[in-house]
Amino acid sequence: MPAVARTLEAARLEALGCVRCALNLGRTQVVYGTGSPDADLLFVGEAPGRDEDLQGEPFVGRAGQLLTSILSEHGIARSDIYIANVLKCRPPNNRDPLPDEIEACRPWLAEQIERIDPLLIVTLGNFSTKLLLETSVGISKLHGKTYRFGERWLIPTFHPSAALRGGPNGSTTRDLRTDIAFAVDTIGRLRAQPQPTARPEPQRETERASSEGQLF
Ligand code: SF4
Repeated sequence: MPAVARTLEAARLEALGCVRCALNLGRTQVVYGTGSPDADLLFVGEAPGRDEDLQGEPFVGRAGQLLTSILSEHGIARSDIYIANVLKCRPPNNRDPLPDEIEACRPWLAEQIERIDPLLIVTLGNFSTKLLLETSVGISKLHGKTYRFGERWLIPTFHPSAALRGGPNGSTTRDLRTDIAFAVDTIGRLRAQPQPTARPEPQRETERASSEGQLF
């Protein structure tokens, strides 16, 4: 008898007890992800911060409020999408994720992508973009364009926390808004196409950040 794939909720419940890396020692709780398990649109950030660690939900601090606000301007509620991070536990003092932590945690993200099966992934910031596109190219060069990610599409943009800092003359904030508007337009066109055999070429330049294959 073929094995029955477990649900996203079953994976989440297992992740809540994860001790695969040392970040389990300092967390208040695992921040697995939130939103619709059938979402067409998946956002992937970096790691939980203090507010997320305390509340158990990603993107609930100031950066998350900015993201939620921008999405609501497009008529999109958080319950319409799914939001997750590369790391499910908060690094101490919000330091950058370490390579061994990313490696330990990436099966959880891989399973989320497989179970949710989104049409479009939006990576927020360098860590999720570099991980999923297998590239060392920075977000400043990659953002706002479409990339193939297996059978799916991926659009990188800046992390909302970088947008809160504004960037040169507020350009990061403007770019985040522009890129999310582009993602909303892209998901609308993807939904309008027959699935899964034909997915449209996005209107902007389509590039590959890395030359070969997919991550998972
Ligand atoms: S960061 Fe990921 S791999 Fe490390 S303990 Fe948390 S859930 Fe497990």
